[in-house]
Amino acid sequence: MDPFDSNNSERVNRPRNMIENSMFEEEPDVVDLAKDSAAFPTFPALDPDEVTYEPRSSRLLVRGLGENELDEEEEDYESSARLLGMSFMNRSASHRPNSSPYTRHAQPQSCSRPSTRTVVVCVLFLVIVASMTMVLYFLPGCTFTKTGCRKPNSTAPLEPVYPHSTSGELFPWAELRLPASVRPLSYDLTLNPVLSTMTFTGRTVITMSVLHSTKRIVLHSAELNISRATFQLGDGKPSVVDVLEYKPRQQIAIKFPGELKMGQLCILTLDYSASLSHTYDGFYNSSYIDKDGNKRVLAATQFEPLAARKAFPCFDEPAFKATFLVRISRQEGYQTFSNMPKAKTTQLPNGLLLDEFEKSSVNMSTYLVAFIVANFTCLSKNVSNTLLSVYAVPEKREHTLYALDTASTLLQFYNEYFDIPYPLSKLDLVAIPDFLAGAMENWGLITFRETSLLVGNQSSPLEKQLVASVIAHELAHQWFGNLVTMFWWNDLWLNEGFATYMQYMSLQRVFPQLDIGNLFLGVRLRALAKDSLNSSHAVSTQVDTPEQVAEMFDSVSYEKGASILLMLNASLPGRQFQKGIIDYLKTFRGSNTLTDDLWNSLTQAEISPGQTNISEMMSTWTRQKGFPLINVIRKGDQVTLTQEHFLLSADNSTPPSSMWHVPVTYVNDSCSLAPECSQVFILKTKSDTLKLANNVKWLKLNYKNTGFYIVDYGEQGWDDLVDALTKNVSVLTSEDRASLIHNMFALSRLGRVSFHQVLSLMNYIANETDTAPLTEALLQLGTIYRLLDKRQEQGLVARMKGYIMGHFGALMDKQTWREEEGVSKQELSSALLEVACGLEKPECIEQARAMYKQFSNQTMLIPGDLQQVVFNVAAQTEEGWSLLLEAYGHVAYDAEKRKMLQALASTQDARRITWILKAGLEGNVVQTQELPLVIRTVSDGFAGHLFAWDFVQENWDRLIEKFPVGSSAIQSIIKSTTSQFSTQAHFDQVKSFFSSLKERGSQMRSVQAALETIRLNQRWMDSILPALRQWL
Ligand SMILES: [Zn+2]
Repeated sequence: MDPFDSNNSERVNRPRNMIENSMFEEEPDVVDLAKDSAAFPTFPALDPDEVTYEPRSSRLLVRGLGENELDEEEEDYESSARLLGMSFMNRSASHRPNSSPYTRHAQPQSCSRPSTRTVVVCVLFLVIVASMTMVLYFLPGCTFTKTGCRKPNSTAPLEPVYPHSTSGELFPWAELRLPASVRPLSYDLTLNPVLSTMTFTGRTVITMSVLHSTKRIVLHSAELNISRATFQLGDGKPSVVDVLEYKPRQQIAIKFPGELKMGQLCILTLDYSASLSHTYDGFYNSSYIDKDGNKRVLAATQFEPLAARKAFPCFDEPAFKATFLVRISRQEGYQTFSNMPKAKTTQLPNGLLLDEFEKSSVNMSTYLVAFIVANFTCLSKNVSNTLLSVYAVPEKREHTLYALDTASTLLQFYNEYFDIPYPLSKLDLVAIPDFLAGAMENWGLITFRETSLLVGNQSSPLEKQLVASVIAHELAHQWFGNLVTMFWWNDLWLNEGFATYMQYMSLQRVFPQLDIGNLFLGVRLRALAKDSLNSSHAVSTQVDTPEQVAEMFDSVSYEKGASILLMLNASLPGRQFQKGIIDYLKTFRGSNTLTDDLWNSLTQAEISPGQTNISEMMSTWTRQKGFPLINVIRKGDQVTLTQEHFLLSADNSTPPSSMWHVPVTYVNDSCSLAPECSQVFILKTKSDTLKLANNVKWLKLNYKNTGFYIVDYGEQGWDDLVDALTKNVSVLTSEDRASLIHNMFALSRLGRVSFHQVLSLMNYIANETDTAPLTEALLQLGTIYRLLDKRQEQGLVARMKGYIMGHFGALMDKQTWREEEGVSKQELSSALLEVACGLEKPECIEQARAMYKQFSNQTMLIPGDLQQVVFNVAAQTEEGWSLLLEAYGHVAYDAEKRKMLQALASTQDARRITWILKAGLEGNVVQTQELPLVIRTVSDGFAGHLFAWDFVQENWDRLIEKFPVGSSAIQSIIKSTTSQFSTQAHFDQVKSFFSSLKERGSQMRSVQAALETIRLNQRWMDSILPALRQWL
């Protein structure tokens, strides 16, 4: 999935805040058991019904493991914790020496300094408890457990405490994860959506195989009213069975008086009805206004990660793969779509038509199933043996051509690169008018936001780059994710990190003219910032609750995942990386994997013995959070490299002694530009030494910033680099220059370099002309500008503005206000002009106003990538804002419409700010899917940032009704409204609001990220304000 609604990816003028993090760090020891357990799907023989489908890497839910079994006290804790809906992470947090100050629950208090009275009371209490326990323990016929007294050396686990189902009867399962005793083989789904009433009925027939003898079948179902259920064992007769439901875990169960035996086949048939969802997940209704002004309705699905259960009862975990046969009824005039091609259509007695799709030719996870009922048109073509089509609402048919051509090229590229042809006979790419995420990779039926797929005649180079990039991501998923799927959401990065890496890699290969390299570099630099916080998490991390699953769709899974794959590929010789992933895909096609499976495949693809052990190296990057800071100390030709955890810590705590295997690349003054110049040194220990040739003047590590680490060169090392750059900008690649700027600002946040050093590096900028370093510098300065602005440091704001103009003003003046040749140039031009007009540079404002005037007189079209800056300026006057709002109401092209919306939200007028926030919430004039964008834009402005924060507090319950707790939309809303605070008062306010939410969001990682960010902003501002006063 591409949850980041890529249009929102802030370019330089809207700097993302440096910091985003997560609350629950994962300890490396959690994954240790992985090595010892058998691979899925072998199950332990002991009490197999208690085993959940669990990857080897998360042991805490694995039950009945004999020697690995948790001790009884832990077991008891687990049962109670589960009942209370608690996460087991809390327990490990209590053992954590450096645990985050933010924990979900109070940690157990140890009696560190008890008073005498307390000691006496404690002792008495313990004596009483111990006596009672012994009495119970030895009492004959006791009911300590359901099975009677516990035997002294018993190794049998305790029976879990079962919850009550909706009917009051005991629900026969007490885990969030489903039991592994039964496995679905195939689903036969019939759906009858009624768009006029926004409801549907359905029948689901699931054929299952019994893997271990059991007396229960447990599966998922959410918000479905099940009216009838029948069960058939083997060739026997179907009989009606009772369905128990436990709503808090979205599970249903059928209990049997006798045991279902291993190896038996059985069929469960469930009839049900439900409402089409009003949010953006499950089987949801969507609508749009067509060109004649009529409202058109449609229904579409979005199941990842946990919403297939809202459309049909199912085993809704990625490891339960099965085949699917789908039938959907419809009215004449509508079409239906599903993963597979349509097989036949029959007329029903009630006048409706029933479309039946071919049974899926591959085993699929439930989250990849999809169906749509709509009235779309398409363009198609055959690519290899696949019918490729791009669908949109009828009036946007011609906007599908670019996507069709791009997808066709990429499909051929992936077919060859992965050496496995795309396995289905058709692939549809569908633009849905009302869609929250950027896109979703449903197998054979990829769904997109309109802005992520459609390209009109007037589309700009950057819009095309975006569309190509989302298509490349979703197509890569057809292999990474769909063909080979992670066992459980803890390894989501195997899907998302890979698809993200492939999206950039494939575009660099097949569409070099899209200049995707800068975008990928920016992504990696932002990922470093987000992973530098204490509350970040390991790439592969434990997740249990639905909220934690939702929060896995974050920068660590996507961007850090992609960054470490690039680092690996860049440090391997020849085609080893490609060979390794081909081997991985071929070995595991159709099944599920763990992170270690990938590393093992890549290790086996080694060309010669003695090379890096990839598994050993890469597990240091996936099993612990954060990344290293490499310190360089040079004495003559001896260079000592030391590593430490680059941790931005708000409370001055010492970082844990993490260690990475770092493939350090480096170049020097004698050879610094060509790839052959780059040498690799693997740093595996805390400190190591490398020897340079004589007379090396300066050293630059992390060639082209392909490694996921930050470098501190020491004062002399930095001075040498700054000198070299000041004399000749071209001694380093533009990526290396951007990386130096990024590292310098990051080190300033860490307190390792003075702000004076930062400014001395920035002095070389006057000679800089390349996009990557310039946009990086603008972004870093923009972050400081915004913090000063929100602190109302008016004097410094003015000086910072002067500083930016002094360094970039000449370049701003050179911009042509025309569409540039080349995406990279265009990106720079848009960025410079948006900053210039944002800082009210008179020439910029004047030019933008003139262009808007011609645009509203319809005497001129504004080039797509300049529209934002022109609309933003227009929206600052009363007349301009009203004209823009009117245009927003009838402009058909979605990308242009969004830019207008963003401009409307950038107003500094309090009444209009209030109006637009409310409009986004109501969803009439402004679609609700755009609310996160509106909130972010309002928060960016000085006038709006406090309004936005108040709005979020006042409307929290309505927000989480529309966007689930933990979702990317909620993560974005929290970040944008709090990340520019840098004072104690704001910290207290944010903390108190989120703590008051309790289960309505207080436990989210993004909340901890917000608090940590404010603390760090506060600390950073305090440390650099004197320097800013002195030097700006
Ligand atoms: Zn994805």
